[in-house]
Amino acid sequence: MYPQSHFLFPFLISLILIKSGLLDWKLALLSGIIGVLIDLDHLIEHILLATKNKFSLADTWNNAVHYHRFSERSVLHHWLGMLIIGLVLVVVSFLNWRISLILAIAYYSHMILDHIFIRVKPKYVLRLKEEGLFLQIPYYELVFDAILVVGIVLIGFF
Ligand SMILES: [Zn+2]
Repeated sequence: MYPQSHFLFPFLISLILIKSGLLDWKLALLSGIIGVLIDLDHLIEHILLATKNKFSLADTWNNAVHYHRFSERSVLHHWLGMLIIGLVLVVVSFLNWRISLILAIAYYSHMILDHIFIRVKPKYVLRLKEEGLFLQIPYYELVFDAILVVGIVLIGFF
């Protein structure tokens, strides 16, 4: 899924936990940002696997959303990574349970969205090519983002 979804979903979950007194808004914001940064493994895999333009963010993006010349997902995006991260988060929770909680929200919300996206191949997508960058976003992701934004606004104001 696209970065805005990976931000909005953990941010909304964290906002709900602010209402419960478990987190504050800075940690909620951090969980959204970390949710997006998890996809940096695409860049690392691109550097390792691409034969040209290894350090190009644009090439990394276009391969991930359009060309799919190779899978850019590292172990972080697979079951083994989820298990290892889970064990690390258990250890971190003994040191700082709030940090462990926002990392868990960021990481596992990212995995849930990506794995649903891998299984449900979208039929209807909005296709754009701006400044050499492909954008092929399924309509259901736009609807999902809109629902998240409405949820964030409602929780933010009430
Ligand atoms: Zn991802």
